Amino acid sequence: MNFDLDSEQLAVKKLVKEFVEKEITPFAGEWDKEEKFPWHVWKKMGEIGILGTSIPEEYDGSGMDYITHAIVAEELGYGCSSMRGTYSVQISLVTKTILAWGNEEQKRKYVPGLAMGEIIGCYGLTEPDSGSDAGSLSSTADKDGDFYILNGNKMWITNAGIANVSIIFAKTDRAAGAKGITAFLVDHDTPGFSTQDIHGKLGLRASNTGEIIMNNVRVPKENVLGEVGKGFRVALAALDNARYTVAAGCVGSAQAALDYAKQHAKQRVQFGKPIAGHQLVQQLITNMTLDVECGRLLVYRTGHMKNKGVVNTRETSMAKYYCSEMVNRVAYNAIQVFGGYGFSSEYPVERIYRDARINTLYEGTSQIQQLIIGNIELGIPAFV
Ligand SMILES: Cc1cc2nc3c(=O)[nH]c(=O)nc-3n(C[C@H](O)[C@H](O)[C@H](O)COP(=O)(O)OP(=O)(O)OC[C@H]3O[C@@H](n4cnc5c(N)ncnc54)[C@H](O)[C@@H]3O)c2cc1C
Repeated sequence: MNFDLDSEQLAVKKLVKEFVEKEITPFAGEWDKEEKFPWHVWKKMGEIGILGTSIPEEYDGSGMDYITHAIVAEELGYGCSSMRGTYSVQISLVTKTILAWGNEEQKRKYVPGLAMGEIIGCYGLTEPDSGSDAGSLSSTADKDGDFYILNGNKMWITNAGIANVSIIFAKTDRAAGAKGITAFLVDHDTPGFSTQDIHGKLGLRASNTGEIIMNNVRVPKENVLGEVGKGFRVALAALDNARYTVAAGCVGSAQAALDYAKQHAKQRVQFGKPIAGHQLVQQLITNMTLDVECGRLLVYRTGHMKNKGVVNTRETSMAKYYCSEMVNRVAYNAIQVFGGYGFSSEYPVERIYRDARINTLYEGTSQIQQLIIGNIELGIPAFV
């Protein structure tokens, strides 16, 4: 067993760390306040290969392994969860899904642009009345000659208002339940397709979230992604990729909260000495450190399994479940170390705390991860 990063992984870590320190961390608070997605930084991320980490070079990706992919998510999460979230959707839910299920024409049309940041994608599974029970979605796709006519609404879709293309899940067979779902590639300029931004979010404010409204959207049959009626498998495989990226991002955000807390604990003097010298503050730092390290090990172990190409749904769900709960604990404790100052948007731990909250909700809630892990452990057939 080897716990060391290799020279290429270390080089990418250094490159992304420096990029985040210069281009992201100093501005994350401002983007959050203004609910502004920084396009110019996104473009630069594409240029330096961050958006194509684990995408093969033949599709203009960077051809990196899964541990390096996690390192990139971790470093982005360190600086700004909104940027990490946008990255997760772009690469894990969209680019890798097209790569895995698309035909050659679809891959050539979309993957290079996505990997280079020239176009942006989103993943439309959730609806107003179906979230955890995604198989019960009610958007429809009715065959009409060489086209499908899509109708329905999607809710809480990351990048909806800024994307060029969506992977949309809709029922081609209303009576067949989850087995009647098909995945479609839908260009956002298709007539009848529109979006509505969602504002007033607790966190991830620099990330675009919106509704998708489909009103007789005419999509050519060539835009079916994978096979007709096999869309739910496409959706679940995509979530497996995204959960890994979310877990890695949580490790990065938690590491940032810990580093800020350590810095503050050494500077803040109470009862005649830095609070770092008070053992109960040390206890907080100890618990946070252990939390971050455990999360990182779970992520890297999962990445190792992904590199080997072995089944890793159990490990991915464990990493996602643990890390998403862990970043909430660590951010909570960081504010405790900061005292009243941690309650102010003047300090980044306040934003990290708000941003942490989404991680136990999206890409499958903590309860759904617990059910997946429990079902696998007990040998019960998966329901999600
Ligand atoms: C900021 C943001 C971005 C998002 N981005 C995307 C995106 O890009 N694409 C997309 O498709 N979706 C996206 N989502 C949607 C997200 O994936 C869903 O919110 C999530 O799956 C939960 O669904 P829900 O909100 O409908 O909650 P519900 O499914 O209604 O769940 C409510 C509660 O009930 C619990 N629960 C439900 N079923 C069970 C059960 N069987 N056993 C135990 N507990 C259960 C849940 O764990 C939760 O605690 C996003 C959401 C947010 C907030």
